[in-house]
Amino acid sequence: MILKKKINTINTILLGPPGSGKGTQSERIILRFGYVHLSPGILFRKHVADQTALGKKIQIPMQNGELLEDNLVIDIMHQTITSIGSRKGFLFDGFPRTLVQAKALDVLMQEEKEKIDLVIVLDVPEEEIIRRLKDRSIKHQRPDDQDEIKVSTRIKTYYQNLPALLEYYKSKAIHVDADKEKQEVFRYIKNIIEVVI
Ligand code: ADP
Repeated sequence: MILKKKINTINTILLGPPGSGKGTQSERIILRFGYVHLSPGILFRKHVADQTALGKKIQIPMQNGELLEDNLVIDIMHQTITSIGSRKGFLFDGFPRTLVQAKALDVLMQEEKEKIDLVIVLDVPEEEIIRRLKDRSIKHQRPDDQDEIKVSTRIKTYYQNLPALLEYYKSKAIHVDADKEKQEVFRYIKNIIEVVI
């Protein structure tokens, strides 16, 4: 049997440090292109809010700004991908964050007879990230945005894992200067996706 990719389906990863605008840009991308948005951060926060067994387990490490275990993240993504499916493609936001997760995602995609087509890397200087997260901590009350140590743990973890991810995705990664107005960043992203489609 020939495994033929569905025409015009593209699966995209949005990589970027906390506060780089992954959530904001994801909303715009899914509205414009109709992809299914998959963000483990959103799924995990819902578990915490609902106080499920998983929510109780991850609450403290999440509040501390630590990455959760790869297996937990891979499992929740596996369940979500197989239960939802996507006609037009997936947009991964905040996943993968480690090389182990990146390799597991390829396996999940193979099971769906799909592959990762594009990796968009949002680049923002560290001072700007810190400024944005301070701002977000006032507006959205996220516990992991509330203090400088937690924020710096998240930023440090991102930059520790980034080189291995960039190496893994070197043929698919396109960098975007995300230190710009939201609308301008979206215009770059939209142009990139339109070229890949
Ligand atoms: P941000 O990009 O601002 O850090 P997210 O909503 O993507 O926010 O993630 C919030 C938290 O959820 C992370 O700090 C981490 O505890 C957990 N998390 C989300 N995605 C992953 C992942 N891929 N691997 C491990 N932990 C994750």
